[in-house]
Amino acid sequence: MTRHTFFPDRYDPNLDLQDPLSGFKDLFHLPVSPDGQAQRYFCGNSLGLQPLSTREHVLRELDDWARFGVEGHIEARFPWVRYHEFLTENMAKVVGALPSEVVVMNTLTVNLHLMMVSFYRPTPKRHKILIEFSAFPSDRYAVESQIRFHGYDPKESLIVLEPDSELEYVSHERIREVIDLEGDQIALILIGSVNYYTGQAYPIKKITDWGHEKGCAVGFDLAHGAGNLLLDLHGDGPDFAVWCSYKYLNSGPGSLAGCFVHERHARSFDLPRFAGWWGHDKANRFKMEPTLRLMPGAEGWQLSNPPILPMACMMASLELFDQAGMSALRQKSLSLHQCLREQIEAIGHPNLRLLTPASEEEHGCQLSIQLLDANRKVHQRLTENQIITDWREPDVIRVAPVPMYNTFEDVYLFSQKLKEALNEF
Ligand SMILES: *Cc1c(COP(=O)(O)O)cnc(C)c1O
Repeated sequence: MTRHTFFPDRYDPNLDLQDPLSGFKDLFHLPVSPDGQAQRYFCGNSLGLQPLSTREHVLRELDDWARFGVEGHIEARFPWVRYHEFLTENMAKVVGALPSEVVVMNTLTVNLHLMMVSFYRPTPKRHKILIEFSAFPSDRYAVESQIRFHGYDPKESLIVLEPDSELEYVSHERIREVIDLEGDQIALILIGSVNYYTGQAYPIKKITDWGHEKGCAVGFDLAHGAGNLLLDLHGDGPDFAVWCSYKYLNSGPGSLAGCFVHERHARSFDLPRFAGWWGHDKANRFKMEPTLRLMPGAEGWQLSNPPILPMACMMASLELFDQAGMSALRQKSLSLHQCLREQIEAIGHPNLRLLTPASEEEHGCQLSIQLLDANRKVHQRLTENQIITDWREPDVIRVAPVPMYNTFEDVYLFSQKLKEALNEF
């Protein structure tokens, strides 16, 4: 890809004028402070912004419910009985999967549990789960509870991939080493595709191949990867993946989650799973038979008839992803990230340390900046200046310039205000 040179301390408007995606930010509600000042928003990794079109998608469903009542299941403009199908194709494109491998259902941690029911099958010889360093707490709680559920002890059965001693993050060599060493006892490898804290992106294909060579099941939590990285789940071949839609995928607070089950398991009806009527063969679902006939593919893991209103939010957002295209988004994301990194390095302050690895394969848009003196006032001052980032204890500012609605101007402004705040305190 073309490499820009970004000049410290001087914003070049051409960076935004020449950005082919610059128009997309006008399709979002950009937050304003209570006293009406425009904000620069860098928390798309935590809660994505609302597309303007979301409202009309939700209103359409409210109107159809008002008008049709129960008949809306069939008569609504997007009939509710098969509503999730309207999301599948665009969602599959976001994560590089076949449509039959993807389903929108439940929420993230629920899907993680459902996948572990099928893919974490511990035996006395092979009962361990390998997770990443500083995994998101919910993932860790879920994993430990599964280990206990099967009668094992997390003290013996949970392995955490610790960073190399010299680095803040985990090198590929180290991942390989741990899998080689312990792989025979590992039942499941579960890694986040981008770590929420350090911003490190893990190599999905390599981990999948190394795990499979050792006979482990391999799954990914793409909460910080979906809509952020250019993914190829089908090609890379993990057994499963799960992700939420309210971060990079802009589908609204607490909105539904995605689930990927690789095609090779599409007809593995003998895999243990928790079942519900929405996983039953859809052609005959309303015959209400007592015997479950599972659908092939990811749809066969569905439990319930899903909530239409959050799915309407998702439909609005996925249309924008389809229009922009993941490859163009990733391209811009790499530029924004690089620009941000160079600005921060140019500040050259001794208390600043970048936790996110620099190589393109090892990060998404997020940059995690450690403040070595843990001075929270710096973050507070940024917020007072209408620069919205998040603070993670004990000492990290996470900044996510999102290609869908952030600009190069945002990035310049952030680094300028950061520099001012550092000089002030
Ligand atoms: C955001 C996030 C979650 C949140 O889980 P929910 O079930 O959606 O509340 C879990 N895991 C990871 C890795 C996350 O980034």
